Amino acid sequence: MTDTKRCLKCERTKPVQAFNLRRKGRKARQSYCRDCMVEAVRTTRAMQKEARRG
Ligand SMILES: [Zn+2]
Repeated sequence: MTDTKRCLKCERTKPVQAFNLRRKGRKARQSYCRDCMVEAVRTTRAMQKEARRG
């Protein structure tokens, strides 16, 4: 049996394994799937890079 969870960003239902665990909490998992987390980090870094240049 596989538990699934819905990503708040891409709104796709994925197995919980596709979600990273939060550092605090036993059962808590991220609201965003790994793919979206990677994308979010990439976007944040790009924004920080832009901010530094300006
Ligand atoms: Zn997602």
